[in-house]
Amino acid sequence: MSTYGPMDSGIRNSIVCDLRSDTVTCPDDAMRSAMAAAEVGDDVYGEDPSIIALEYRMAGLLGKDAAMFVSSGTQSNLCAIMAHCGRGDELIVGDAYHIYADEAAGASVLAGVSMHAIPVDDGNAVSAEQVKGAVKDDDPHYARSRLLCLENTVGGKAISLEKMRSPAQAAWDAGLSVHLDGARFFNAVTELKCIAKELADCADSVSVCFSKGLGAPVGSILVGSHAIIARARRNRKILGGGLRQAGVLAAAATYALDHHLSLMPADHDRAAQLADALHDLDVGNVYSGTNMVFFTPNASQHNALHAHMEAKGVRIGGQHPTIRMVMHRDIDDAGLEAAITAFRSFYA
Ligand SMILES: *Cc1c(COP(=O)(O)O)cnc(C)c1O
Repeated sequence: MSTYGPMDSGIRNSIVCDLRSDTVTCPDDAMRSAMAAAEVGDDVYGEDPSIIALEYRMAGLLGKDAAMFVSSGTQSNLCAIMAHCGRGDELIVGDAYHIYADEAAGASVLAGVSMHAIPVDDGNAVSAEQVKGAVKDDDPHYARSRLLCLENTVGGKAISLEKMRSPAQAAWDAGLSVHLDGARFFNAVTELKCIAKELADCADSVSVCFSKGLGAPVGSILVGSHAIIARARRNRKILGGGLRQAGVLAAAATYALDHHLSLMPADHDRAAQLADALHDLDVGNVYSGTNMVFFTPNASQHNALHAHMEAKGVRIGGQHPTIRMVMHRDIDDAGLEAAITAFRSFYA
């Protein structure tokens, strides 16, 4: 079984609540209509009006000069890393962060950038002291420290503005740039009750996914200065990520900003409700933050729990030993109720 659990087609229709990830959402009729109506053009020529409008909107929202629409969060991060760093440079990153742990070492494989991982604290933050300690002296023996990569949210935890600003400032003081992997940027903004610009101000470039909590089918965006985005555009081409009439995808992302952003607090609320229900069942260690719930079932019950939940139409992740469950656009109150009822009947 893969980390994220099985998906065999026959079962799909009987699943009423898929908690594996917020990436499993499907575009509804209204989003599909918006996609069908999108004006499009060749984006490599800079001629797709839907993409251009989305890029302007996101740059404005995050208080940066420019933005670039890309096909995935991984590609967005890599375009940014290549824009900030050259071959033989080094980035500093939290050891639990996606860039270090979950992108197949693309920074090293494709960009020739080494990664210096520093341990994250209980809240998944890194400190200014750790950053200072990780920056290497200018010495021919060493890689050149060039970039700090932060992330928010991490494992469902929103990191406070203070805990973002202080390592970022340490990096800037040492002459490094700062990139924020905000795959779930708006979940963080929702939880921190801040405005998008305040969080974006903690970094020189920010990557945001439309395909996670926002519920679009494809797409991420990288925002930053004109210079960074110009370099990132070249990098996107190098990586084979140039887009043509992808305005249909930008239209889905725009629809998500218009109609889904305001629904994020409801996802967080449902995650808290699910965590409360699990606490009451005394299933062991339960943690929830933003749209995620984590719990660690008794190892001997793992398989039986999965089978029971599937039979009740509820799909949970296949991670061991701690299972992650994620709320998203395709889980409403009925879906939440189905999940809670299924857990109750298993632990009864
Ligand atoms: C999902 C995710 C990404 C990028 O994922 P893609 O599947 O490439 O879009 C990057 N960072 C974090 C923290 C993520 O959760």
